[in-house]
Amino acid sequence: MNHEEEVILYAANQMDANERARFEKHLADCADCQADLRMWQSLADEMQAAAVPAPAHLADSALETIHAPSQLARAFRGMIQLLRMQLMLMHNELWVGSAALMVIFLAMALLAARVEVLYFFAPILAAGTVTLIYGSEHDPATELTFSTPVSPWKILLARLTLVSAYNVFLALCATVGLLLILPPQALGELILGWLAPMTFLSALALLLSMWIGTGNALFISYALWSMQFLAMTSVGEWFVFLAPWLESYRQFWHDPALLFSIGLVLILFALWSSGREQVQWHRTIAM
Ligand SMILES: [Zn+2]
Repeated sequence: MNHEEEVILYAANQMDANERARFEKHLADCADCQADLRMWQSLADEMQAAAVPAPAHLADSALETIHAPSQLARAFRGMIQLLRMQLMLMHNELWVGSAALMVIFLAMALLAARVEVLYFFAPILAAGTVTLIYGSEHDPATELTFSTPVSPWKILLARLTLVSAYNVFLALCATVGLLLILPPQALGELILGWLAPMTFLSALALLLSMWIGTGNALFISYALWSMQFLAMTSVGEWFVFLAPWLESYRQFWHDPALLFSIGLVLILFALWSSGREQVQWHRTIAM
């Protein structure tokens, strides 16, 4: 029997007295759970340590100067620890799944000899994974995460950093793979081509997933993303008046400066709202 979830709840102090007693009874003669518990407890300890605030006040400014580098080093160490913890806590399927999908998209792009395939799918994949990082009820580890005094926005930022870095890495690998059908000079333009919409679409999907749930977030982001391709189709003579609108909409997705700036604003807003009442880590996924 798999008790992993109970071990985590126990380590996070999230059980009532009855559950505790029952679980401790089981724990007494289950070597697996004992080993798991040791792992989760050391993880919790490390996260506590990562969250230790810098010394509250250093009255003497000279002292402050002397201590500045060590505070910086401490902050840096705390950040690395937080990233490492979140990496361990996040679902493995996320990493393997997106890598597998990216391989498929690359193969499609190469087979069709169309770089547009990567342009279309890289932002979709990134936005999809980003909606999974903000607390799901299927992720018992969030219990452990939130029993430690790390602010939600730091956890969200750590996870966003990890997933985004991974998504960019995957898309970069795929882009290098595209050199089979592309001249090397096209590389820079190609990277900027997917990086900007990827940033914007991920930021949008993240924010929406926090406020209205993963399913709705994916639907809206994917619809907005796909709508730009309407400009490439003929909209028919009855809808000719739409054509200029569609064209400027398509232009929007090809404006890196604009996409990066709005994306940044959305991310800041997502971080700000991570501590809000309305936005719960344990929201039900509306799939
Ligand atoms: Zn057990």
